[in-house]
Amino acid sequence: MTESLACIGLGANLGDVRAVLAAAYTELQRLPETRHHRCSPWFRSAPVDASGPDYLNAVACFDTTLSPQALLEALQGIERRHGRERPYRNAPRTLDLDLLLYGDQRIATPTLTVPHPRMHERAFVLLPLAALLPDTVVPGRGPISTLMSSVARQSVWRAD
Ligand code: ATP
Ligand code: CA
Ligand code: CA
Repeated sequence: MTESLACIGLGANLGDVRAVLAAAYTELQRLPETRHHRCSPWFRSAPVDASGPDYLNAVACFDTTLSPQALLEALQGIERRHGRERPYRNAPRTLDLDLLLYGDQRIATPTLTVPHPRMHERAFVLLPLAALLPDTVVPGRGPISTLMSSVARQSVWRAD
């Protein structure tokens, strides 16, 4: 089975966010059928369309032979282990793991849309992704450098 490059968006704004993101990245590294893991620097951002504490965000990527659906289910398992609840849309969360990209595939099923349908309009996704993979082209949306220029007004800053 061929490997694909998967990119995951990590975000948290409740609890010890640094510890949660570090633990989540460790769990991603332990997923079966994955290798060559790397993680972007961490970025802070104010919540969008929501209230609550600032977010800590990062993007991780790895090569995998897991299917996109299996990967989504694995991400949801990690979220659950960190106490993720979904009381209402955009609610503060202990951990959010989004499947941003899966190779150059475009996927649309009832439970999974790839590329993530809102990633191209979010500086807190694009900045860490560009720091990790500056030559990324988001299928159907274009080069990340172009996408970043349209989110330049959003306040996102390096956390370290
Ligand atoms: P947003 O999707 O705008 O970032 P969110 O992360 O808060 O919001 P969730 O409540 O975590 O949204 O996810 C809602 C549903 O989105 C999930 O049940 C999942 O099936 C679906 N989903 C569709 N595409 C994806 C994807 N690429 N990554 C993660 N979840 C996805
Ligand atoms: Ca999300
Ligand atoms: Ca999510």
